[in-house]
Amino acid sequence: MKLAKVPIVQVCAYQIALLQDSLQKLAGMNDQPPTYGQPVPAPCLYELTQEEMQQLAPPERSIVLMDEHVFQHFPTKWSGYRILLVPPGEQNKTFCTLELLSEQLLALGANRQSLLVAVGGGVVTDLVGYLAASFMRGVACAFVPTTVLAQVDAALGGKNGINVGLHKNMLGTIRQPEFIAINREYLATLPDLEWANGFAEIIKYGWIDDVAILEILESSNLPYFQKNLSEFSLLSARCTSIKNRIVAADEFENGERKKLNFGHTVGHALETLYRLPHGHAVSLGMRAALRLSEIHEGLDPSADRRLAIMLQQYQLPTSLELDELQVLDLLMHDKKRNGTNIDFILLERAGKAVIRQLSREEIRMGLSTIQAT
Ligand code: NAD
Repeated sequence: MKLAKVPIVQVCAYQIALLQDSLQKLAGMNDQPPTYGQPVPAPCLYELTQEEMQQLAPPERSIVLMDEHVFQHFPTKWSGYRILLVPPGEQNKTFCTLELLSEQLLALGANRQSLLVAVGGGVVTDLVGYLAASFMRGVACAFVPTTVLAQVDAALGGKNGINVGLHKNMLGTIRQPEFIAINREYLATLPDLEWANGFAEIIKYGWIDDVAILEILESSNLPYFQKNLSEFSLLSARCTSIKNRIVAADEFENGERKKLNFGHTVGHALETLYRLPHGHAVSLGMRAALRLSEIHEGLDPSADRRLAIMLQQYQLPTSLELDELQVLDLLMHDKKRNGTNIDFILLERAGKAVIRQLSREEIRMGLSTIQAT
């Protein structure tokens, strides 16, 4: 199925000049953290050339914090910049890594006018976003997401953070980067598992907001998008425009933005307990949420079969052997807890999410759906 054209923000000289101008003005302000008052959402700039990137992130001001794996694949891409390598993987999204990176930034002579450029997946954009928010009480940052998941979700919206022990994203802020540069060339080296991972978030956008995404996904498959990057870009831009619209309306997650957490409450607990990739955990979380939507919102039971087929089509899991009580214990420490209940995202129908409060016992009913037999 051909994708409908959606407007992709094309970078033009005018946009670059505008951004450059504001960066220069901010950099000129003495002793003022240069990033307050960032536009919400931050601009997404597609397919920047190296020269354009150097205009927006001048090498003399910028420090690139780059995922080690990405550096191995693209060792010369950022030559001319000062580069710090970030140890890859969720296990490094910790305070320990933050401390190490802070020391390295100081050794490199970073100051309040520095621009930290995160190049990597969601782990690196989350880490660097939080580091930038606290280093010298706040320096500017920009994101160059290199995974599908980070290009359609993690790098957008300004949420960042690190894990504390078993608790996901327990320290963090909401603070917009200067810009997000989305470049499809990075996806060429992305392992299949990471492609699948990112599609979990794309599937999420379809269920909470845009049934056309579900139809597009149903008429295609993962290898198709891996081979046809321009078609993938259209799909990705559709997702970014949904997220940007929601973030613009509710940056600090007082209401509407909570809907983006569909599948994530159960998902985060599974991700931590069973060391699952983020997208795998969210896939299982979405199935649990669909079951709860049948019970509480009267969602048509055929939706679960539709989701399960879609998850298989995009190489994502539909069940897991799990300890329900352990999952519930961890889940009740989630940031979204509200007294004895948890803010939980359910569906009235495909494309229409609602926010409800569910108790521990109610959530348990959803877990039985994904229990492997
Ligand atoms: P990730 O950053 O761990 O990247 C996955 C793997 O791919 C890593 O091994 C990485 O080294 C490798 N990699 C990255 N780019 C590559 C490339 N171009 N070529 C080859 N290998 C590459 O994981 P992710 O899935 O991108 O992000 C998951 C994280 O994002 C989780 O910590 C999750 O909590 C967070 N997240 C944040 C938000 C948010 O709004 N802030 C939203 C969703 C997810």
